[in-house]
Amino acid sequence: MRHLVVVLGDQLDLDAAGFDGFDAARDAVWMAEVAEESAHVWSSKPRTVMFLAAMRHFALALRAAGRTLHYAPLDDPATHGSLQAQLHADVERLRPTGLVMTAPGDWRVLQSIKGVAQAQGLPLDIREDRHFHCSVREFAAHARGRKVLRMEYFYREMRKRHGVLMQGDEPEGGQWNFDADNREAFGAAGPGAVPPRVVFEPDALTREVIALVEKRFGAHPGRLDGFAWPVTRAQALVALQRFVAERLPLFGRYQDAMWPGEPWLYHAHLAAALNLKLLNPREVVAAAVAAYRVGAAPLAGVEGFVRQILGWREYVRGIYWTRMPGYAELNALDAHQDLPSWYWTGSTEMACLRDAITQTLQHGYAHHIQRLMVTGLYALMLGVQPQQVHAWYLAVYVDAVEWVELPNTLGMSQYADGGLMASKPYVATGKYIQRMSPHCKGCRYDPAQRTGEKACPFTTLYWDFLMRHEAALSDNPRMALQMKNMARLNDAQKQAIRERAAAVRNGEVA
Ligand SMILES: Cc1cc2nc3c(=O)[nH]c(=O)nc-3n(C[C@H](O)[C@H](O)[C@H](O)COP(=O)(O)OP(=O)(O)OC[C@H]3O[C@@H](n4cnc5c(N)ncnc54)[C@H](O)[C@@H]3O)c2cc1C
Ligand code: SF4
Repeated sequence: MRHLVVVLGDQLDLDAAGFDGFDAARDAVWMAEVAEESAHVWSSKPRTVMFLAAMRHFALALRAAGRTLHYAPLDDPATHGSLQAQLHADVERLRPTGLVMTAPGDWRVLQSIKGVAQAQGLPLDIREDRHFHCSVREFAAHARGRKVLRMEYFYREMRKRHGVLMQGDEPEGGQWNFDADNREAFGAAGPGAVPPRVVFEPDALTREVIALVEKRFGAHPGRLDGFAWPVTRAQALVALQRFVAERLPLFGRYQDAMWPGEPWLYHAHLAAALNLKLLNPREVVAAAVAAYRVGAAPLAGVEGFVRQILGWREYVRGIYWTRMPGYAELNALDAHQDLPSWYWTGSTEMACLRDAITQTLQHGYAHHIQRLMVTGLYALMLGVQPQQVHAWYLAVYVDAVEWVELPNTLGMSQYADGGLMASKPYVATGKYIQRMSPHCKGCRYDPAQRTGEKACPFTTLYWDFLMRHEAALSDNPRMALQMKNMARLNDAQKQAIRERAAAVRNGEVA
């Protein structure tokens, strides 16, 4: 054998760079389902099914394309527990003259594969992942010499470089950012008739995986009844087309809104398909822009959507690869509280958190504002150690892969990188949640109260957070107003907040 082409669970693209020059007569593909990938964090059942079902369907596509495949299934007793051990064994058996792969998404996995190549004395050809609009080298060039990094400037560069929503050198519609037109809450009547979720009934192969995951990882979090994610490229294309036709027109407007029992709203639900490479971000961006061009979706919403894919998604990848491995250890706010155990069950009296976590465990999905301004916000203000928060986010979502999850969690949500990702910590009282959703109406707590039996834990923890981090935050001009308001509290008020916050932290309030 000449080359063994290593394909990971998030590299399910027949046209990936790793296949360039593939010679069916001399090369073969290698894939493995190993327990370690579901165990290094306590991977939820929906997430594991998402990966394994998509991998098994991709294996069929590879064979149909005439590519020889060596595939180690999880339910084969001979399969090793880790990628490294499995690859070692297969290299010894197959004796390729070299390993080839598209650059992996995870730093940890890259080290494992390099370790095998080195131990076996084999050349390892790692190819640029052209799935992305921006290479790591290009991102590093963008970052070089800048004192602070801001997504907005990176995003504008990307728009210009790729000619997306541009009129010559000017942004379409004369402005780069339409945030002011986006981000409404639903009125009192609620979201009305939201388009139904696009459901992909599990076929026999996916049902097999569901049974396997129940058997092997039955005690892991999450539920599998109702698993309906796209697990093939054909399904992912249907999901994209349905999103553009049915949800994109209202995507921007309700991007930040929440409604109890409504997990799907106007979001794309495409992150898992993108991250597993069933979809290419260029086709996703092109489909959204085309909808704007024919008048099927407004510019503000389309720009807001393009910003997520061409901006945030590429930006966090650049941060990850230019900052790892040290980034994963950061803890700028010196936070050491344990993650409350109810993050794994949803068993809390806080209505907003209960809704977001229950839905997360049911579907492996929550939209961005639930992740950032409900589960993330609470963990930040409680003072949870960021690495524990990271382990939770990496475990629970079907779209969770470390290169995108880690900067979002440690940087954007937990401010653990001291301001590299976000210019200030995203902190707010329960009143923010009250403004964006009706959760507070059905809650035993009151977002307007910061102390006392009915005090909303978010509101208590907000003031406590500002007091605890006064020294670190008072130099930040973007925090000036919040710090000024905090300074108006008298000593007795501060003491009462501290006492209530201590009760929240001790688990007396949950
Ligand atoms: C704490 C935290 C953890 C997160 N972990 C992940 C993760 O593991 N995997 C993941 O893909 N996204 C993650 N995100 C980003 C974002 O929340 C999800 O991409 C989004 O909610 C997925 O749902 P959707 O496909 O319906 O996205 P939509 O809201 O419809 O957005 C469209 C697409 O834009 C991209 N996108 C949107 N926001 C971001 C962002 N901040 N960073 C990168 N891409 C973005 C995604 O590919 C998404 O599919 C995280 C955000 C936070 C705050
Ligand atoms: S009162 Fe507080 S805990 Fe309850 S739903 Fe509102 S924000 Fe959440």
